[in-house]
Amino acid sequence: MRTPLIAGNWKMHLNLDQAAELAAAVAGVAEACPDREVMIAPPFTALARVREVAGERLILAGQNVCWEEKGAFTGEIAPPMLRELGCRMAIVGHSERRHVFGEDDAMVNRRLRGAMAHGLVPILCIGETLDEREAGQTMAVLERQVRDGLQQVEISEAAGLVIAYEPVWAIGTGKTASPDQAQEAHEFVRRLLCEVYEKNIAAGIRILYGGSVNAANVDEIMAQADVDGALVGGASLSAETFERIIRFA
Ligand code: 13P
Repeated sequence: MRTPLIAGNWKMHLNLDQAAELAAAVAGVAEACPDREVMIAPPFTALARVREVAGERLILAGQNVCWEEKGAFTGEIAPPMLRELGCRMAIVGHSERRHVFGEDDAMVNRRLRGAMAHGLVPILCIGETLDEREAGQTMAVLERQVRDGLQQVEISEAAGLVIAYEPVWAIGTGKTASPDQAQEAHEFVRRLLCEVYEKNIAAGIRILYGGSVNAANVDEIMAQADVDGALVGGASLSAETFERIIRFA
């Protein structure tokens, strides 16, 4: 019922030729796997080039998006700009945006609503830090990030949302959440979505896991009932490894 979504977040990596080469390889895998969706979020500067090789099935996404359509917002990218480059999705609230660049829940919410207003599917990233987990605050943090991130998002708009649970301590560290830890967090988020919206809507929202997903752990993580996909950083930069992840069992 929920089509699995395997998403690669390239972060600030690859030059134009490398980006085009990797995107072409991933596009081929996406064509060969019609039962799952495949997305990549290249750096903004590579989107035009990547689009030339992406084909129909590979979904392109922005790594972030502004809430405004245009104006004096130095360093930002507007939703229509992403649309013009063929993007169908946009990541918002990635932990690096929150923790390195100081974005808060209110700003993430504005970005999410801006994306939706222009027909981009937002991927709302949430996740606790190691300190928060050790202090027993994981669920409280996730609840705040979900509730505040989805402020003013009506039930009629909510069905198309994607959420990505990325525990900050698992990102780029080689430490993955155990399948049980991932399932526990995902189940909590889905129950929360039932409260915020309703059961049918919550049952349709995809919740991705992110944080050191690789070829060796993807099968076990994807086997969890409430894990509907993966948001992959480092391992999405290798065509071979990302193909194996896309082809999870
Ligand atoms: P890694 O897969 O490199 O841990 O990164 C995860 C991530 O932040 C994806 O958005």
